[in-house]
Amino acid sequence: MATVTQKSVLESVPTGLLIGGQWRNASGGKTLAVDDPATGEILTHVADASVADGKAALDAAVAAQADWARTAPRDRAELLRAAYEKITERADEFAMLMTLEMGKTLAESRGEVAYGAEFFRWFSEEAVRIGGRYAVAPNGATRLLTMRQPVGPVLMITPWNFPLAMGTRKIGPAIAAGCTMVVKPASQTPLTMLALADVLQEVGLPDGVLNVVTTTSTGEVMEPLIRDPRLRKLTFTGSTPVGRKLMEQASEQILRVSMELGGNAPFIVFGDADVDKAVDGAMLAKMRNMGEACTAANRFYVHESLAEDFSAKLAQRMGALTLGRGTEEGVDVGPLVDEKSRDKVSSLVDDAVAKGARVVVGGSAPDGVGWFYQPTVLTDVPADADLAREEIFGPVAPVSTFSTDAEAIQMANDTEYGLVAYLFTQDLSRALTVSEALEFGMVGVNQGIVSNPAAPFGGVKASGVGREGGFEGIDEYLETKYVGIAL
Ligand code: NAP
Repeated sequence: MATVTQKSVLESVPTGLLIGGQWRNASGGKTLAVDDPATGEILTHVADASVADGKAALDAAVAAQADWARTAPRDRAELLRAAYEKITERADEFAMLMTLEMGKTLAESRGEVAYGAEFFRWFSEEAVRIGGRYAVAPNGATRLLTMRQPVGPVLMITPWNFPLAMGTRKIGPAIAAGCTMVVKPASQTPLTMLALADVLQEVGLPDGVLNVVTTTSTGEVMEPLIRDPRLRKLTFTGSTPVGRKLMEQASEQILRVSMELGGNAPFIVFGDADVDKAVDGAMLAKMRNMGEACTAANRFYVHESLAEDFSAKLAQRMGALTLGRGTEEGVDVGPLVDEKSRDKVSSLVDDAVAKGARVVVGGSAPDGVGWFYQPTVLTDVPADADLAREEIFGPVAPVSTFSTDAEAIQMANDTEYGLVAYLFTQDLSRALTVSEALEFGMVGVNQGIVSNPAAPFGGVKASGVGREGGFEGIDEYLETKYVGIAL
């Protein structure tokens, strides 16, 4: 296999819009720059779509829908399986692209490639298991037949933090179900999605089934599509404020929506927990993706009997991490995605410190180029610190203490968000009781990561509606039709 270099991956990635099976420039010829967050330098340019391009992409998805819905489930399954194989074969290329445009280390990017590709394998296996139901009506007079059919053309809007996996967990079930789609990746990280579209074309996905639009005129290009009655579903992963706005737009035509939004995950360490295992879990829950994950532990609640030991060990591990460009050997932590993100993390830490929090390790941005922030542990964090309420989206672990289970549950649930919570205990009964009491869509017990293509990922409250992955994931792309049959 040819050696993967920065130059080779950047030269091989398509930079146009994919519309109806053709790569084309934006009408008007505008382009958008993709930056390297480790240096602030421009990596390359891709097409910057206009409103007319967005409409053309939806036209193509609409035109392809009927034929695509009629394809054999096995054929759709085989396409997904072939794409899974290709992504896996090209794991190093995908990893390099992702690291360049997003910043995480190559090791982390490889982890995302495996995770992201697995959605295609999982949904290739689900494509041939779309069933219906036949029942005798309770009065015995009629028969009830239910069938599952593809929803229709879908608009998918994805964020920058997991440029591959946030796409594959929507595209996989949509292909499996027989839906066509328009995908709009985040402006900071369009390259991975363009490379993925290239793979899907290569394995023979029919023209128009997947269309990709990259743009900086995001709202302007997306809103007319959301209001277009030919669109049948919107699936969005991103921040809660943008999700709220899109739901308002979608309400005009009662558009079906899935919303994977922000989180504010509590990480609870009970007095009976194994502290070393809790610290291992905390490192994963906090430092995966430099803390730029909706699932990132945002608030650590540690039983008062363990708090000092836990904080000291966590600070020791966080302080030993090496910052640097994700492409370099020996680097553990890459930069944050852009200056705005870095400034937000900085101001959240400054606010907590001003209100009385103590910095155990880190606490500032290092000098030099790139949007780096030091891995940070804060203790004595007051409840009114902004970072107790807001998503930090960076490598900062604020630790507070509790004394009773009831207090821990109350503090954990005291948020508008409800994506994921983590708890560490060696008592099974406590693990189950607390899991039941937590108002979150997912709970990690004695583990710092819950993401798994075979499990239903999603939140409650302001963290969104709908589930991605698992058996539930394909339901988001299927309608149930009931046929009543008189005998
Ligand atoms: P964001 O600002 O909401 O952007 C997400 C996507 O929405 C991007 O593609 C963005 O495009 C697009 N967008 C922005 N404004 C829009 C508008 N007016 N109309 C249509 N599309 C619009 O979020 P982000 O900062 O990229 O991502 C971080 C957020 O995502 C965090 O809150 C995180 O928790 C959440 N997230 C949630 C999950 C989950 O599964 N629950 C997973 C990952 C991330 P542009 O890039 O062009 O602005």
